Amino acid sequence: MSGRPFSSFYTTRLVGEIFMPPTRAVGDPSTDNQHKGRNGFPRGPNLRNSSSFKSKLPPSSAVRRSSPGALGAGADAVSGRVRVAVRLRPQNAEELEADADFADCVELQPELKRLKLRKNNWDSDTYEFDEVLTEYASQKRVYEVVAKPVVESVLEGYNGTVMAYGQTGTGKTYTLGRLGDEDTSARGIMVRSLEDIFSNISQETDTVTVSYLQLYMETIQDLLNPANDNISIVEDQKTGDVSLPGATVVEIRDQQSFVELLRIGEAHRFAANTKLNTESSRSHAFLMVQVRRSVLGRENDFTSEHDVSSNGVNNFKPPIIRKGKLVVVDLAGSERIHKSGSEGHMLEEAKSINLSLSALGKCINALAENSAHVPVRDSKLTRLLKDSFGGTSRTSLVITIGPSPRHRAETASTILFGQRAMKVENMLKIKEEFDYKSLSKRLEIQIEKLTAENERLQKACEDEVERIKLEAQKQISEAERDCAEALKEEKMKCQMDYMESIKQLEEKWMLNQTKHASNGFIGTSHAAEGGMPSGNDEVSELKKLLQNEVQQRKAAELEIKNLKDCLLKSMKPELAGGNADIFNLQKMLEEESQQRKKLEEEVIVLRHQLSQLTLEASQTTSCPDRSRTGNGFVGLDSVSSLRHLQFKDASDGERPSISNLHEKVGLHKILSLLESDDPNVRIHAVKVVANLAAEEANQEKIVEAGGLSSLLMLLRSYEDETIRRIAAGAVANLAMNEFNQELIMAQGGICLLAMTASDAEDPQTLRMVAGAVANLCGNDKLQTRLRSEGGIKALLGMVRSRHPDVLSQVARGIANFAKCESRAATQAFANLGTKHGRSLLIEDGALPWIVQNANNEASLIRRHVELALCHLAQHEVNAKDLISGGALWELVRISRDCSRDDIRALACRTLTSSPTFVAELRRLRIEV
Ligand code: ADP
Ligand code: MG
Repeated sequence: MSGRPFSSFYTTRLVGEIFMPPTRAVGDPSTDNQHKGRNGFPRGPNLRNSSSFKSKLPPSSAVRRSSPGALGAGADAVSGRVRVAVRLRPQNAEELEADADFADCVELQPELKRLKLRKNNWDSDTYEFDEVLTEYASQKRVYEVVAKPVVESVLEGYNGTVMAYGQTGTGKTYTLGRLGDEDTSARGIMVRSLEDIFSNISQETDTVTVSYLQLYMETIQDLLNPANDNISIVEDQKTGDVSLPGATVVEIRDQQSFVELLRIGEAHRFAANTKLNTESSRSHAFLMVQVRRSVLGRENDFTSEHDVSSNGVNNFKPPIIRKGKLVVVDLAGSERIHKSGSEGHMLEEAKSINLSLSALGKCINALAENSAHVPVRDSKLTRLLKDSFGGTSRTSLVITIGPSPRHRAETASTILFGQRAMKVENMLKIKEEFDYKSLSKRLEIQIEKLTAENERLQKACEDEVERIKLEAQKQISEAERDCAEALKEEKMKCQMDYMESIKQLEEKWMLNQTKHASNGFIGTSHAAEGGMPSGNDEVSELKKLLQNEVQQRKAAELEIKNLKDCLLKSMKPELAGGNADIFNLQKMLEEESQQRKKLEEEVIVLRHQLSQLTLEASQTTSCPDRSRTGNGFVGLDSVSSLRHLQFKDASDGERPSISNLHEKVGLHKILSLLESDDPNVRIHAVKVVANLAAEEANQEKIVEAGGLSSLLMLLRSYEDETIRRIAAGAVANLAMNEFNQELIMAQGGICLLAMTASDAEDPQTLRMVAGAVANLCGNDKLQTRLRSEGGIKALLGMVRSRHPDVLSQVARGIANFAKCESRAATQAFANLGTKHGRSLLIEDGALPWIVQNANNEASLIRRHVELALCHLAQHEVNAKDLISGGALWELVRISRDCSRDDIRALACRTLTSSPTFVAELRRLRIEV
């Protein structure tokens, strides 16, 4: 190869024809192992061995997670050697001119990824790199070869570093930082990296933040905020992670804003360097891009869809966050390391630059040689790049060189740096973590959702309950309303029925009234015609019955005779026959004679009955004679009545003293005291008189002495109830006597008694008054007058007091009156053949009360009323009234149940003798 002209070398370099064959076959298994470094990757190139090394870069795909779901610091790491590419800058104008006569110091063999560094005209060293980029390599290609794999790793959650190292003016900034404003094809790695990042992330779930700094003389300045010019490095003691918490972090959403940010950063870098009177090439620039990606949308990486749908566990699995950090470092010119002989400030600066870069070189040397100690802490640059070399980052280094032989030493140094860097192995670790914050937020949202759903359901449930409740209430109220309406209707119906019944009863009552009136009239006219049934009818009927019986008897006798004759006739021819026939005939004869005997007895009974009836009939006819006894029918009762009417005020013990008093003082004197002005005297006097009047022996004397008038006067003139009561009692006692009765009537006593009857309230007063009137009622002569002067009405009026004593006297009075009426009617019919008119009792409206009390619980009242009813019923003229007034039932009852035989017999007789009753009973199919 010696003697080869520079031009042809250049040409050869261009086409890549000149090529040093390797001393060992590439990939020869017998030799490969000797060169393998950690993790089985081949070791870096053997420096100065121009022909025998072969270094193999791990493929991009080799960077992978060691196991699914491995996360963060705990994840298994994979080895990743620092990749180094060399880029040759084209000759610039100056070089074209100055180096025109000299060959380039380097010769590139890109297809072999080799670089030859010319030592002299005949010798050169060959170096192998991961990529060899000629002066013709486009920016796009440089990006794809150097940075793209790193960017891809960053997107997957690894840290990544792209760094340019080289002499000033060799194109570090050109490679990394060109914005490509005029020519987009000129865009550098920074711009292209962000373009790639933006096209691969989700704007919804992922974020990209950027910081831009420069390190100058061990000071970190914020290029996004120049005032912030002393940012300190913070190291996490646990993880060893390095961060710059003081740096401005800007979240960027699109490419344009990033380019703007870079522009601002560059402007600040330029301004800062101008201010410090330095060059940009003397500072290290750091672009830090943090990509935070959520793998929520890529669940399939971790769980199958089946898992998701089956149990929803996925809902509680925190989303995974992948945090990849891309650091792009534009280092200061490496030439300063060797040209540190500057003076003053420049010297300091050179020292500082030297410090950082030489520290970096030392670290890389240490790492390349697997040295136990890596002096990371010697400078800020090495501290900042701790993760990029020997750390967890995927690192790509581009070393830039110029072609000029004048800078051969710098170029050689750069190449050596790159060669050493290629030996550095990093342990790539994915930066993944569970996003508990996001999970918590998601769960919170889920809880909120569920709470809302729960509330909604609860509300729906409550609404439903409320609706059912309302429905039920509605139904209840409807039922209640229906019920109320039904009740109302029922009530109305009942009222209507009730009204209807009342109306019917009223109509009936009216009809009865009319009937009464007409019956009364008819009765009167009947009475006038004399059509009343009498005892004689009964007798004649009985006679008829008797005649029938006699006839029947005669017929029986005749039959017996006939039978005897037959017997005799039949016996004659059969006499000689047997005795059996004779015996039979004798038996028949005996039976016949017994029959006859029975019939005879019956005839005797009937005869007896006939005679009895005849006797009664004759007694009835002679009744007026009996009325002379005055108290007549009162009979048995009069004694008890008298006793009743004695005053309880005067005890039995007092009576002798009273009679004594009367004997001593004289009756006249006592009677005169009745008119005394002193009310006490009057009361005592009237008591004395009343007690005297209770004794039958005194009654005549009292009347003779004018006592009756005085007593009546007391009834008339005093409103004092006691005096009236005692006076009425006395009058009642006096009224036991027939003569006195007439006197009382003559003196207008009945009017006074009626007046007292209507005024008085005290039952005892009413009892006395009723007793007096009842006594008067027993007088046959006083009937008409008694009635016309209101006696009957007075009696009936007193029934308002329901006191049994009063009612008993009223009943006695009515019974007395009915008895007298009955007697008078019978007598009138017997004497004159005329019929008596309708009962005055019925006329005065006593019948309803009589019917009502015919079966009164009190036996005394009941007996009086029963008698009264029987008397009224004895006259046909009253029959219709009695039937319409409901008395027929009472008569039937009396005829059956009355405990007194005489009354029961009377009722029976009455019912069977009255044609009206008989007809009615027949109609009603009632048998008496
Ligand atoms: P450094 O940052 O290493 O000091 P620069 O990037 O500033 O160097 O480059 C110095 C000069 O070289 C610039 O004018 C730049 O445009 C030019 N240059 C560098 N690399 C290339 C390249 N590959 N192609 C064309 N021009 C380049
Ligand atoms: Mg630069």
